Amino acid sequence: MRVAVTGGGGFLGSHLCEALLRRGDSVVCLDDFSTGDPRNIAPLLGDPSFTLIQTDIAAELRVPGTVDVVAHLASPASPPDYLRRPLQTLAAGSRGTENALRLAHRCDARFVLASTSEVYGDPLVHPQDETYWGHVNPIGPRSVYDEAKRFAEAITQAYRGSLGVNTGIMRIFNTYGPRMRPHDGRVVSSFIVQALAGEPLTVYGDGKQTRSFCYADDLVRAIVAMIDSDEPGPVNLGNPVEKTVIELAELVLAATGARSDVQYHPLPADDPARRRPVITRAQERLGWSPEVDIEEGLRRTVEWFAARPADVAGALTAIRGGQQDGVPPDPVLADPAAASPWSALS
Ligand code: NAD
Ligand code: UDP
Repeated sequence: MRVAVTGGGGFLGSHLCEALLRRGDSVVCLDDFSTGDPRNIAPLLGDPSFTLIQTDIAAELRVPGTVDVVAHLASPASPPDYLRRPLQTLAAGSRGTENALRLAHRCDARFVLASTSEVYGDPLVHPQDETYWGHVNPIGPRSVYDEAKRFAEAITQAYRGSLGVNTGIMRIFNTYGPRMRPHDGRVVSSFIVQALAGEPLTVYGDGKQTRSFCYADDLVRAIVAMIDSDEPGPVNLGNPVEKTVIELAELVLAATGARSDVQYHPLPADDPARRRPVITRAQERLGWSPEVDIEEGLRRTVEWFAARPADVAGALTAIRGGQQDGVPPDPVLADPAAASPWSALS
């Protein structure tokens, strides 16, 4: 198969590109590297089955020839990343998703959308199954991501209903592993960076909020299963083992052997209190279950971070900056007009 992977230069996207190449597919990776890292796909560049197209898919998504599958992952995903890029995040979820759907429609291809547990917002139902409609603040700071993904699901469903595109919606829960950017500000990467540096682990709020963490290899197996099925979804993809943030801090300390303290910081606005997927649908319809437990997943992730001491040291400064100001400035966005994909299109 020939698979277009938007966001293929990112954390999950690059693992997906590799998994597809490994089984003999050819891959067209589309990425603007706004939150990705070219090093993620550098080893793939010599592979004749791999093509890189550097583009902002919200502005333009052109793939020569045809494809059998469009896997649409392009979007900032870490809260500090999307809070720093509100307009780009909305553009990736709306125009970017429509451009990716148009490609799938033109090619009569399978289309899979990387949606998110954030469509459930700060859930009033626990654990969350796919029938729950969610509890999202439409104008809160996180709405640029949550509502972009909700729109992405709606337009995906509309392309299926009105144009017959073979679509599948995946609601991905917190996933971690090698190739998370050490400075992306997510809890797993931040705790590992802090622990390796012997710095305090920054817990937001009282640390009793929960998340359910899935290891990247498990999640990528689920995306491949979704690609290979005709399942429309939505399907929750995640590891249902739920941990408080404090428990995660303890697990990271155990995985690193660090003796760092915990330091409490204010809870960000609209931070969801609890999150745990019901994964019966994925188990029954995709034959998928996660296999890597959090101790083993953290061990592998810590090993990857520890092999990159310069990145970890640089990340510590960026994470500290983020905690002082709420959201760190991004030099790429110094010129807001140039940074806005809407202005480029007007
Ligand atoms: P990531 O930031 O590492 O990867 C996203 C990639 O998309 C990056 O390489 C980035 O450069 C690219 N990108 C962003 N906007 C783009 C645009 N307009 N044009 C072209 N490329 C663009 O994040 P990730 O964790 O790998 O997430 C991948 C996808 O999975 C995202 O859609 C995210 O919303 C979804 N997801 C991830 C998680 C998780 O825990 N990792 C959870 C839920 C959903
Ligand atoms: N968090 C934390 N310390 C950090 C970063 C995050 O305590 O340094 C908390 C955050 O407030 C949230 C949880 O960890 O409750 C997961 O945050 P993350 O940004 O990884 O993902 P999301 O909020 O999107 O689930």
